[in-house]
Amino acid sequence: SELLRLLEEAGDDALQPGHSGKPNSSSDLPLESGKMKRKRAQTPLEKYDLNYLCVTDLSTQSWCEQQMVYGRELPQQQAPETVVLLNTGKSIHLARELEVHDVVKVHTTSKEDSWAIKILNLLSVIPVLQAGGCVRELPVFGIIEDVFLMGIIDELCYSAKGELELRELKTRGRPFMPSGAQKKKDYFQVCLYKYIFDAMVQGQLKPDVITSHIHLRPEQPLGSHIREHAQKVGFTVTCFGDLLELMYLNMTLSDIPSIDCLKIEYSHQESNTLLGTEVVQFEEEKVRERAQYYLAYWKGRREVQGVEIEEAWKCQSCSYSEICDWRRKRAEGPEQRSGPKKSK
Ligand code: SF4
Repeated sequence: SELLRLLEEAGDDALQPGHSGKPNSSSDLPLESGKMKRKRAQTPLEKYDLNYLCVTDLSTQSWCEQQMVYGRELPQQQAPETVVLLNTGKSIHLARELEVHDVVKVHTTSKEDSWAIKILNLLSVIPVLQAGGCVRELPVFGIIEDVFLMGIIDELCYSAKGELELRELKTRGRPFMPSGAQKKKDYFQVCLYKYIFDAMVQGQLKPDVITSHIHLRPEQPLGSHIREHAQKVGFTVTCFGDLLELMYLNMTLSDIPSIDCLKIEYSHQESNTLLGTEVVQFEEEKVRERAQYYLAYWKGRREVQGVEIEEAWKCQSCSYSEICDWRRKRAEGPEQRSGPKKSK
């Protein structure tokens, strides 16, 4: 296949996903007025120095928010079997991706270059979608509650009925379908993809929204490797703003429809057999409400929460059950529950 997906080979300005790249953002926090100037408490977005979140941050939060926080702070404490499961899942996704396009590494030298790669990956598949083809690993961006979100859709295809269908592949270590709680997390993930993809094709994500949220400079010249690859897929660009404009115009003028149908395929990792397919109902109001609730944590409007007693079974297989503050407080009784300490 001629289709390529660019993979970042980061130069010196390499950043962790979502990381704002500010040298020391905590020192930039506004101070409260008054004689005794005090710094206000940092929100989790500020604490982890993030200027965007991934869709999977929110979906893992819907399983257990406290676990998501521990996963960010103490990734090395993840149980080895969980790590193996995740890595096998990644390899399967990559193998599927290589069925439809090649992956090439591109050297980046700035934050704008890193984002240019995501945008080029999106731009290069728009003609495929327009022609009724199937695309995999499609990057999507959007805003909910004034927080920038980014995600990667596994697959978008047209069904026999001509509807645009999102397919999310979930691979499982065990040869049976997941529990209701696991499905709920996955449903939320695909609904968020639809929410932000639809907003993009409807022209709601303006270029200046992206640059202001991620603190990117539209006038930043793109690195030579990026310009070269842009040329290969038919775009002559010099600065980052050129690519943003192209993305906006291509997404809104290309007649790509909103996503009509959301499907999740569960397959067994070892035998590679399909365990089942779920069709997910999209209810916009409910998706927005749940996202607002999860984002309230990130914006520092409420404390982190662990699972409620009815879902305490999740703690049995949790890598952080030995150190979990929330679990300890829950065991100590209801009077301790009013304000579980933030995880450290
Ligand atoms: Fe969440 Fe339970 Fe794990 Fe604590 S032990 S992080 S409450 S799943």
